[in-house]
Amino acid sequence: MTRLCQTEGLTEDQSEILKAVRVFVDEQIIPVAQELEHSDTYPQEIIDGLKELGVFGLTIPEEFGGLGESLLTYALVVEEIARGWMSVSGVINTHFIVAYLLMQHGTEEQKQKYLPRMATGEVRGAFSMSEPGLGSDVSAVSTKATKQADGSYSITGQKMWLTNGATSTLVALLVKTDEGAESVYKNMTTFLVEKEAGFGETAQGVTVPGKIDKMGYKGVETTELILENHQIAADQILGGEPGKGFFQMMDGVEVGRVNVAARACGLAWRGFELGVAYAQQRKTFGKVIADHQAVLFRIAEMATKVEVAHNMMVRAARLKDTGRRMDVEAGMAKMVASEYANEVVEDSFRIHGGYGYSKEYEIERLMREVKFMLIGEGTSDIQKMIIGRSLLKDYKLK
Ligand SMILES: Cc1cc2nc3c(=O)[nH]c(=O)nc-3n(C[C@H](O)[C@H](O)[C@H](O)COP(=O)(O)OP(=O)(O)OC[C@H]3O[C@@H](n4cnc5c(N)ncnc54)[C@H](O)[C@@H]3O)c2cc1C
Repeated sequence: MTRLCQTEGLTEDQSEILKAVRVFVDEQIIPVAQELEHSDTYPQEIIDGLKELGVFGLTIPEEFGGLGESLLTYALVVEEIARGWMSVSGVINTHFIVAYLLMQHGTEEQKQKYLPRMATGEVRGAFSMSEPGLGSDVSAVSTKATKQADGSYSITGQKMWLTNGATSTLVALLVKTDEGAESVYKNMTTFLVEKEAGFGETAQGVTVPGKIDKMGYKGVETTELILENHQIAADQILGGEPGKGFFQMMDGVEVGRVNVAARACGLAWRGFELGVAYAQQRKTFGKVIADHQAVLFRIAEMATKVEVAHNMMVRAARLKDTGRRMDVEAGMAKMVASEYANEVVEDSFRIHGGYGYSKEYEIERLMREVKFMLIGEGTSDIQKMIIGRSLLKDYKLK
């Protein structure tokens, strides 16, 4: 039953893509998600299937071998995938952001060099801003690229929380450079760092130490990245010019926020499905629990939150597809979708009673996974700062 999360005005192509992904999710992801998640196993077969479906090149233009689809299509695909298993959407998320950065800000050579191989999934992207000492406060980046006499750079520093840190072979890395600008934001540069997949020293001066052990979001690895005098040519600067990294990354984060909103929508949707099914099976005091008004109202509230989150996410994606800035809409969608997903999943957990605490039931996995939605691509506090500041500018007293 798919009454929720319907999107009006989709093209035939979009509807076909979503149908194919939904079948894939129902048949290939949901049946194995619980087992793979509990054993923290990388979902290689699922990833191979997504490659075949063309998901890695979904938004990459056709001239580079992709499907040339919109952010909206991508977000709806992510919602479907996260409904099956949120971790799988994490595998494609950083890849998608790196491809977006290349499409928007890369030089022609960089596009030619990477996008065709990213479209097939041969080159896989990771996105690295965070460090042990910073996440929200990106201006505090301390990993430094120093210009050498021959014009190349040497990068030293420690990065933290790289989703796909080991499986990726191309990292969009935000570092400090000395451009002599007064503003810290203009002294930051994004480098395209190539490395091998795997752990240990994966390129000269680039080490991926190991997996961070997480409470959820398992299967996909999250890692640190240590750079020690990593030598890199100046033509690996995204867009060819230093000093633009902060603005490029913020653009990437904006689409990343729509993507996290979509993941939260998928989790909320699944939480609802599990709750509404269980409520019609479990009996207490002589009737199924869905017939107790408290549970019925919970179901109604959950469904309403699923719909609100879905519609805000869709609106933000559509706005971005028009090429407009949409930091407020992306921030609102991300905040509402993640907070609502957290509430919907918890409501579903409550409906499950004691069984929700058992590892046999899917809802326990969702309970752990949904917490990451509150953190990734900026916490709700950070979204509120962005939304509030922007609105104060718009509504400034004359
Ligand atoms: C599983 C996982 C995967 C991740 N993947 C990636 C990745 O691929 N690439 C990447 O670059 N990063 C990644 N991150 C990092 C993530 O983006 C950061 O964790 C997140 O931005 C929060 O930063 P922080 O952890 O440093 O928290 P902090 O910035 O230290 O914040 C701590 C608390 O203080 C609050 N706070 C901070 N500043 C303010 C303020 N000005 N006003 C009000 N409240 C404030 C926050 O809301 C939060 O509650 C990942 C994180 C996790 C957990």
